[in-house]
Amino acid sequence: MRIADVRATTVTVPLQAPLRHSNGAHWGRFVRTIVEIETDDGIVGLGEMGGGGQSAEAAIVALKEYLVGHDPARTETLRFMLANPTASLYNNRTQLLAAVEFACLDILGKHTSLPVHALLGGAVREEVEFASYLFFRYPSADGSGEVRDPDQLVAHARDLKSEHGFTVHKLKGGVFDPGYEREAYRALAEALPGDRFRYDPNGVLSPEESIEFARGIEDLPNDYLEDPCYGLNGMRRVRENTPIPLATNTVVVNFEQLATNVLAPAADVVLLDTTFWGGIRPCVRAAGVCETFQLGVAVHSSGELGIQLATMLHLGAVLPNLSFAADAHYHHLRDDVIEGGKMLYRDGRIAVPDTPGLGVSLDRDKVAEYAELYRELGPYPYDRDPGRAGWYPMLPNRDFADPTVAGRPAAMDREPY
Ligand SMILES: [Mg+2]
Repeated sequence: MRIADVRATTVTVPLQAPLRHSNGAHWGRFVRTIVEIETDDGIVGLGEMGGGGQSAEAAIVALKEYLVGHDPARTETLRFMLANPTASLYNNRTQLLAAVEFACLDILGKHTSLPVHALLGGAVREEVEFASYLFFRYPSADGSGEVRDPDQLVAHARDLKSEHGFTVHKLKGGVFDPGYEREAYRALAEALPGDRFRYDPNGVLSPEESIEFARGIEDLPNDYLEDPCYGLNGMRRVRENTPIPLATNTVVVNFEQLATNVLAPAADVVLLDTTFWGGIRPCVRAAGVCETFQLGVAVHSSGELGIQLATMLHLGAVLPNLSFAADAHYHHLRDDVIEGGKMLYRDGRIAVPDTPGLGVSLDRDKVAEYAELYRELGPYPYDRDPGRAGWYPMLPNRDFADPTVAGRPAAMDREPY
């Protein structure tokens, strides 16, 4: 079996409302690139990567000359063929490698009639628990869905809990000043007794602000404080000054950083992202290191449609030391490109696919519909806030959004969602 073709299609899938974060916003939709790798015996493996539009399509298709003729079963060699660590100083292909790895594992599963989790050592659980991933939100185009003050946040969390059954709640912060967000987080915890909570401002606080924030929430049932500040040394200082575990998906995203974190711990929980780490298999390896050194792990979400979600489910299925709920943006999507429509949460959990490969297939009509939508709308600047012209975040950030400013920014007038 050899790889015979590589294809990529960028799609835009609408969100229920624009999601605000420390760097700006998702402007009412996700842009994702679907990767298809076909073998000479006609098996098609699926991959997915974030954003990128035409450049992502071109970058994936450019790998064709590396991949055609390669045996997809030799997945370990892909790391060196595409993203050798010293060559990657020049061509930084880790996220492309991840999308190719997903597709090769999908091919192998289909070829052997085994689900991907069976290729990774076998499932230790049949479903993966997820946290509600709560964002501050701009209103959608019809005026609904704004989340700006604590009352709106609590109502949103209650809605998601009743719809999907979440008992763990993550607040994505770093939008408003930390004092305001701390009170919003406390309001959440007080409104949902018995549930657990985590806060992630994407590293925009200083170490001192992080310590102050931690001390203001130490009495709550926190899973962890995620990337309060940016950098291993700042995180280490925060960790020495709070009993709350620290988690990261920003400063431990490769094996060199993981080694440093083992030798001089800065984070207690490593959030494994199948894209950031270059595939599902490196995440499994990293989880093994974490198990040995008694670090916690969870499954990170960098935004996903159903293909990427499947990679997260297969990862979550095989990690004995998965002691925290996974994150997903998935419930913020209005639709998906996979056959059968969006996967469903039941009691805050999603069942791990058990059919060969990743266990998802493309709904060709949906792919065509959302590829056309991408062609109509183009990309959006993920790292800009439509409500604040000219602003961009510093680390630590000193210029937060104003929570008294309500409504939808004029810059989004032409955005349909
Ligand atoms: Mg994070």
